[in-house]
Amino acid sequence: MYVSMKYILDDANKNNYGVIAANVINLELARGVINAAVEENAPIIINIGQGQMHKHASPDIMCDMIKTLAIKTHVPVALNLDHGSDFNRITDAFRNGFSSIMIDASQYPYDENVNITKKVVKLAHSQGVTVEAELGHVGQANTFDNKNKTLYTDPAEAVKFLKDTKADALAVAVGTAHGSYPKDLKPELNFNIISDIKKYTKIPLVLHGGSGSGSENIKNAVKCGINKINVCTDTFNSCRNFLKERLMENPEIDFLSLMIELENAAKETIRSYIKISGSCNKANNFSYYEY
Ligand SMILES: [Zn+2]
Repeated sequence: MYVSMKYILDDANKNNYGVIAANVINLELARGVINAAVEENAPIIINIGQGQMHKHASPDIMCDMIKTLAIKTHVPVALNLDHGSDFNRITDAFRNGFSSIMIDASQYPYDENVNITKKVVKLAHSQGVTVEAELGHVGQANTFDNKNKTLYTDPAEAVKFLKDTKADALAVAVGTAHGSYPKDLKPELNFNIISDIKKYTKIPLVLHGGSGSGSENIKNAVKCGINKINVCTDTFNSCRNFLKERLMENPEIDFLSLMIELENAAKETIRSYIKISGSCNKANNFSYYEY
């Protein structure tokens, strides 16, 4: 079923588990991710990044396709614009039926972040669309932003921010970053910040940069209050690696077979993340809902 992201995250928050939000840019990834959720009987969030939407995954096509896939399953599926920052693209996603928008104004000073986020909340909430905002700043792993503690979310400021903006979920900066971490290095997360933000705000919290952060980090982050774990780089890399290896093994492979196998590879990557998120069998918590 196709649902709002708030419906999924409120249950995850109430019952202290995490839900995977996987970036998707085509049919193979969309069906692979949704089938992973069906096999694990788990709620799932589909993310499409603003840049991904602009360059390739057009919202008019993607939204209809994802809704079609979602309504055929019993598991709750939400569609979220990941890292929205351009108001034209945000309204484009909104008009095409995304059930959630992330507004990322985290690069701006506090007051500006509040004003931009408030504007999106006003638009989105008028139609029952969920809003994820970001406070602190989750940067890039290749520039070691995850180690820059000045970018971390301040728990007291988070309370004020949510009161000022009325966002439904909050992306927090606690030691993860986007992209690939240096080889074999797992990031160090500040779990106390997660616990404090949860204790003071009580709302669903989001961990960006889930790829490569390690299963123990993810499990502990969920225990401390993370309810949404974003995974992009690992899915894209595992799909790229699968294609590379399969083509080296059999350069003349039939294209259709290659796409079918690719979808399966994407499914298995997401299944492994669903298993560590704590969301297996949590689809049972949801009753039928029409978005
Ligand atoms: Zn992110």
